[in-house]
Amino acid sequence: MKFTVAIDGPAAAGKGTISRAVAARFGFEHLDTGLLYRAVGMKGGDPVLAAQGLTSADLSRDDLRSLEAGQAASQVAVLPDVRAALTEFQRSFARRKGGAVLDGRDIGTVICPQAEVKLFVTASAEIRARRRWLELGGEAAEEAFEVVLAQVRERDDRDMNRADAPMRPAADAVMVDTSDMSIEDAVAFAVATVSARL
Ligand code: C5P
Repeated sequence: MKFTVAIDGPAAAGKGTISRAVAARFGFEHLDTGLLYRAVGMKGGDPVLAAQGLTSADLSRDDLRSLEAGQAASQVAVLPDVRAALTEFQRSFARRKGGAVLDGRDIGTVICPQAEVKLFVTASAEIRARRRWLELGGEAAEEAFEVVLAQVRERDDRDMNRADAPMRPAADAVMVDTSDMSIEDAVAFAVATVSARL
């Protein structure tokens, strides 16, 4: 069975948690496509060559979840040749047998427009920045909350306004605003949406 769940939206909206939970619930494989761009951004050198030659070692670096990696990722993600180098891998993952969940920015619009379920998960920039800041250690975080908020806004802006595959909901995506939702409720909503389509 081929069944693709495309989960798009900005940073820290809850995509990762929802994607992992949906994958576990239905026995689908999960691909966090942001990690591909993070690994390219952190590799250094020519980003197009980095994307073309991405290895599993590049994808298992332990600094890929850092703020720095997120910023580096969104800078290389504007380059059409970088995106092109990563497209085929994502497309074949999406249509693998047994079902797949992919989370990112352009899964429902560019990578897999035929996905059986498309969710666009969002939340206000302040709420997403607070979640990210708490993950970094809250009061003990090295970065001040305002720095994290500024980075969230800068990344949203770059991701929404790039020419190639900008972040936007597909016309047929189901919108999920998690600003005032618990993560349990967001997961339950996503699971119900997938169940209804299976
Ligand atoms: O989702 P995550 O925060 O890990 O993504 C890091 C960056 O990678 C995003 O800000 C975006 O610029 C880029 N990205 C993308 N397309 C995707 C996934 C991530 O452009 N499908």
